[in-house]
Amino acid sequence: MACSASGCQSNCYRNEEDDREAPTPPTQTTPSSSSGEPTPIANGNHSHGLCLKCKANRPISSSSSGSGDDARFCGDCFRSNLFGKFRLAVTSNAMISPTDRVLVAFSGGPSSRVALQFVHEMQHKAQQNFDASRDRSLPVFGVGVAFIDESAVFPVPSCEAAEGIEGMRLIVSNLALPTKELLVVPIESVFSSESSNEKNQLSKLLDAVTDATGKEDLLVHLRMLSLQKTAAENGYNRLVLGSCTSRIASHVLSATVKGKGYSLPADIQYVDARWNVPVVLPLRDCHAEELNMLCHLDGFGSLKTIELIKSPCSGINSLVSSFVKLLQEENPSRQSTIVRTAGKLTPFHFNRIPEIIDSNVPLATRRRQKRYNLKANESISSESFCPVCNSPLSRSDLVGTRNAGSSCKLSDLFSAACCSSCQFQILPKDPTSVENFYTHFPQLLVSRAKQNKSENLNLLRAQIQDCLLSDSEDET
Ligand SMILES: [Zn+2]
Ligand SMILES: [Zn+2]
Repeated sequence: MACSASGCQSNCYRNEEDDREAPTPPTQTTPSSSSGEPTPIANGNHSHGLCLKCKANRPISSSSSGSGDDARFCGDCFRSNLFGKFRLAVTSNAMISPTDRVLVAFSGGPSSRVALQFVHEMQHKAQQNFDASRDRSLPVFGVGVAFIDESAVFPVPSCEAAEGIEGMRLIVSNLALPTKELLVVPIESVFSSESSNEKNQLSKLLDAVTDATGKEDLLVHLRMLSLQKTAAENGYNRLVLGSCTSRIASHVLSATVKGKGYSLPADIQYVDARWNVPVVLPLRDCHAEELNMLCHLDGFGSLKTIELIKSPCSGINSLVSSFVKLLQEENPSRQSTIVRTAGKLTPFHFNRIPEIIDSNVPLATRRRQKRYNLKANESISSESFCPVCNSPLSRSDLVGTRNAGSSCKLSDLFSAACCSSCQFQILPKDPTSVENFYTHFPQLLVSRAKQNKSENLNLLRAQIQDCLLSDSEDET
């Protein structure tokens, strides 16, 4: 077992009390998020107009027009229900261990604001446990915040940008101890190691992409790359994104439209460790409407949000987002249904937190992680990744790579190594533009494409090692 009921000091964020309090596991349907209609419950409590959980306070709204939970719960219970979903996602996927350093990607919007708040609250609780423990042997995980500044792509008036960043500093510094650093990173810094004029290189790269959706997607990949680079350079080993159910539902549909069905299961799990710094999505079971409402409830107090990035709305992504929003308005369970349905696809081997080998981490935490983690036979292993979007490649994608093997031009090899969706939507059509695109592409990614092969061997070795060890495991 993870820890005894007698006051868990192990900072492993799970004790029997938690188990009792926790809502239904995220893989199943929770009554709040998936029961469909905002059921104006024919329930004695509701008819008295009281919160369903505490039966003492009034629900947030008396109408049934909201997402449902606002008609059911009072403010406090609404908040604790949402935090419960977050905490369950974190604990049951072993997202955070005591020795981790967690970087929260913060855009200033409601989702990442709530992610930051909840991660902070969890850390604060761990700190209190640490202070109260006698031996103080266990560390408290560290938290940092990163904002990727995209003003080089979407210019904002400099005073507005400065004000926004100042606002973020205030949000981060107003969080209680332990102190967190805020890293403001210009997106063009992905080129920092190779170019003296980073902004110029970024605009040349984006200009080479003519398709609006392709440009948007390329920017998403560059953003992830900046976050990865920032995390690695500053000693973080987890990256928390605020992706919520609504966002993931939109991704499911848009990825399908773009012909990325093969790699789709990789993107929609709680954990994505195909990156050097594993990415975790603790808000996967929370709806955008719920997160907006929480920010609205906490109002102009602690959950203040700032919108700094104003990306233009065009292309497939925004079309799909508005379609999903419409579906949700018609039936509040739609987003969950989409994510749950896509969730039945088999995940990839990297959709799990890599095993902890750090002996500073208590054995209980390591064992628990092992128990909850994906088993090898429940996942697909993949050997190669698209150098542009880092999607795992299917066999048919790989055939293209092999056919190009005879060419000695690097840009030919590069474009043949891309997934079919990137080839269609991001890569320029004529060969000279491809060469141009390739030369402006972040070398970080290009070198990763070259590394793929050696990593495959390491992966294979790791897999074999797993099998060899399984006989002598102490936990049988
Ligand atoms: Zn209540
Ligand atoms: Zn790709």
